[in-house]
Amino acid sequence: MSRYNSILDAIGNTPLIRLNRASEETGCEIYGKAEFLNPGQSVKDRAGLFIIRDAEEKGLLEPGGIIVEGTAGNTGIGLSLVANTLGYRTVIVIPDTQSEEKKDALRLMGAELIEVPAVPYKNPNNYVKLSGRLAESIAKTHPSGAIWANQFDNVANRDGHVVTTAEEIWHDTDGEVDGFICAVGTGGTLAGTALGLKRHSGHIKIGIADPMGAALYNFYAHGEMRAEGSSITEGIGQGRVTANLEGFEPDFAYQIPDGEALKIAFDLVTEEGLCLGGSSGINIAGAIRLAKDMGPGHTIVTILCDYGNRYQSKMFNPAFLKEKGLPVPEWIGGTPDFEV
Ligand code: PMP
Repeated sequence: MSRYNSILDAIGNTPLIRLNRASEETGCEIYGKAEFLNPGQSVKDRAGLFIIRDAEEKGLLEPGGIIVEGTAGNTGIGLSLVANTLGYRTVIVIPDTQSEEKKDALRLMGAELIEVPAVPYKNPNNYVKLSGRLAESIAKTHPSGAIWANQFDNVANRDGHVVTTAEEIWHDTDGEVDGFICAVGTGGTLAGTALGLKRHSGHIKIGIADPMGAALYNFYAHGEMRAEGSSITEGIGQGRVTANLEGFEPDFAYQIPDGEALKIAFDLVTEEGLCLGGSSGINIAGAIRLAKDMGPGHTIVTILCDYGNRYQSKMFNPAFLKEKGLPVPEWIGGTPDFEV
């Protein structure tokens, strides 16, 4: 399609990009689904669209209604672009640890942004719980009402990936996909795409790529919900079985340290022209591990969640990397080769 009725038609149908180094290293065909090409520049546009459409179908949204959400940023951007297109407004609660670039993108979309201290989920002031309470109180007072998008436990998020992401991957690999892997924030992308692909073929293997500091690797690999270490990646890392993850079981589980993911992300810039965010690095590291476990000759797909420019002040910032004890790539921190 090359003529759209609105920006909403530009959500989804993203291409698969062959990851050349990863493919050559493993003898597999490893593809990244270019979700950064969505109009809100992340995989979360899909959740934004499906959550709002679902609420409309259930008659929960009135014209001019408010959509409230707690988000690491990308879901807020997706919700805001969909809300603006359809005549709603957004109020976004974000932990203050998230990148300034994502906060700026939200302000740019006209979202009302509420920054809160980052505290664990079990704390009643956690951003997700705060956003739920805020939605309730706005719903009582605002003339057009309000809904809580609730991306973690609203399975409209996962359903969007069942009907779009999985179908696109199946179609674009001519049904030859053997493995799919990605990290989990809400679990909508992983569980939804897995569910959709397994409907086409029970032989497709599913992997989870978990960052350090998240508990799902230990949960799926050892039956114990336990986190260890930490990660600079944003938007991923879960410590509970969200509603989107209910009934989901991966075939393979991996725990990926930041150093492994960042090296991949940095090399992709200079070798393959792809400047991606940290969760994409975790995903590709996971895809390489899955390819090695499955053996050569398989086709494996992962998700390229968002662009690196959303994290320029962090994972592409020498001072930040040094402070975290992480390697600084030559092309960012090095001295110039040419001068005028
Ligand atoms: N990567 C990034 C950059 C994200 O913002 C998110 C969503 N928070 C994810 C990955 C994870 O996606 P999901 O919520 O579908 O698990």
